[in-house]
Order: sequence, then structure tokens, then C-alpha cells
Amino acid sequence: MRPAKIVTLAAVMALASSACSAARQPTSAPASQPAAAAGHAAGNAEAAPARQEANAAAEATRANGLARPATFTDADYAAHIVRLRQKIPAWERFTVVVEPPFVVIGDEPPDQVRRRAVQTVRWAAGGLKNEYFSKDPDEILDIWLFKDDASYRRHARSIFGHNPSTPFGYYSDSAKALIMNVATGGGTLVHEIVHPFIASNFPNCPAWLNEGLGSLYEQSGQRDGRIVGYTNWRLAGLQKAVRTGRVPSFKTLASMSSHQFYDEDSGTNYAQARYLCYYLQEHGLLKKFYKDFHANQVADPTGYQTLKAVLGEDDMAAFKAKWEAYVLKLRFP
Ligand SMILES: [Zn+2]
Repeated sequence: MRPAKIVTLAAVMALASSACSAARQPTSAPASQPAAAAGHAAGNAEAAPARQEANAAAEATRANGLARPATFTDADYAAHIVRLRQKIPAWERFTVVVEPPFVVIGDEPPDQVRRRAVQTVRWAAGGLKNEYFSKDPDEILDIWLFKDDASYRRHARSIFGHNPSTPFGYYSDSAKALIMNVATGGGTLVHEIVHPFIASNFPNCPAWLNEGLGSLYEQSGQRDGRIVGYTNWRLAGLQKAVRTGRVPSFKTLASMSSHQFYDEDSGTNYAQARYLCYYLQEHGLLKKFYKDFHANQVADPTGYQTLKAVLGEDDMAAFKAKWEAYVLKLRFP
């Protein structure tokens, strides 16, 4: 849910060449400017529906338990597409690409839809699974890539009955779909791909880590064959909040309920969570943190004790000061 940025096709192609400035440049190109301003507002405006979706996803996943293996046959995908075709008017306008566990449907030119399916969806899902996720989503999920804002809003209404609160795109658990305005870049798409994987692998994951990881990868690339997040538009607002002493403690962040994280966000929650994940990533600790937290979730449902252990920090006030100094030195672009 929420705003995101970039990872354009060009960017993803450049990813293979690692985190050089050439690779990072295109990832930040079109969306970062409007996003820097619009994204914050969109993030906040989107919060409530996002939380509802996240809660619904978690409940649905719990209800499903582990009974159903998340693997689908060619026949499953074929039947799924037949059902889609029956309910979508002007179906012939769309190109459909099966990219397990997703079905990608777009109204850009067919070659472009196919490229996005491979270079963004396959790339991101593969990179995320490589880092964190052993289980695919429990159902076939549709990724709708609408070519522009008009198409996105018209189809969100006509197909799903939604009036999007974000210009970028969102994940709807009830529709089992990621609904994207792909003209705003691929970053939102990568962010949203994180959420169904969290729902199937870590249904009790608190909002701060769910959104921290989603936000981390909204500006991403590849380093040594692994997906990595780069600095992005959320940095400026966070640096301002750090300078004015408005960033809460990590204990407070980790302890937030979904309601507190999404609906009572003073504007720093996403960015604080993102740049905590970024700090862990850059110190080689993010994957370990995720795995340890997942393993310890019953004893430590907020992740705070696991965070302290993985960081090796007893004094989290001192760590926060160190992290804030680190954040202030980061640059974007
Ligand atoms: Zn999100």
C-alpha cells in the first residue's frame, strides 16, 4: 500500500551492473520528484485502507493455515484466466502473462507488459524469495498494470469498485490483486509485491517491518546477485524529523499496532522503518534479523528484543543516536 517509486525497466536491466551510479540513476528518475512531495501525502492518505487490507490478509492467511500448498498447475492458471476473462469487459485490450505465482495483466503494448512481467515482477519476486520467503502466496494473485492514471482509476472503479486514494497503486487482499498505475514507475510494484509474501510467510509480522521492507525495495537494485534497497525520496523527510527530534524510539516504533502505525502516523513511520531496514541491510544484518525475528515471533512479537540482539546493542538510546547520525550522512539522489 502506499507510494513508492521506481525501478523502471531500464533500472532493472541496469541492476545487473550493481549499485553504480548509472544503475541508480534511472531508478530514481521520473517518480522521485513528484513522489517527494506527493508521496508523503499519498502515504498518509492511504494508510487506513492499507491497514484494513493488511489485517484482512493476515486473517485470511491464518484462517487458511498451512493446509494448502501454494503451488499451482498450468491448468490452475488457465482456469484462473478464463474466470478473469469472463468478468473483465474489453478483455482484448489486455495482455496476459503468467509469471508464477502471479498473473500479470496490462494494457500497455504487449511487449512492454511481457518485459515488466520478467524484468520487474520475476526479478523482484525472485530477489525477495532469495532473501526471505520460502512460501509463495496462498492464491494466484493478479498484477494489473494500467498504462496511465486515467486507465488505472477507470479500471479500479469498473473492475474492483475501488476509488484509489493513491496515484501509484495498491494491494487489495479482497481482490487478490495488485492494482498499479505503472506510469508512475515500477517502484510501487516492487513495494506491493512484498506484502503478499509477508502475508503468506509471516502473517503476524507487525506493520513496521511489513512496510519497512516494502518501502526499502521501492527503490532497489542488485548487488552481488542480491536484491538491495537504495536511498530514496523518503530520506529528506526523515532527515528533517531527525534534526527536529521528532523520530520516536525504536521501542515505540516496534510496539505500534497497525492502527497506530497507519492511522496515527506523524509522518515518520514509513521512513523510520525503511531506514532501519536500510541500516541493517548495509551492515549485513537485515536477512539475519528477518530470520531471527520470524523464529522468535511468539516470544518477541514486536521484534524489538530481536533487534537489540541482532544489533548487539543494550543501550538502544545510544543506538538511536548512532543511527540518526548515519541517516543524516545519507544522500539522495
Ligand atoms: Zn505497503
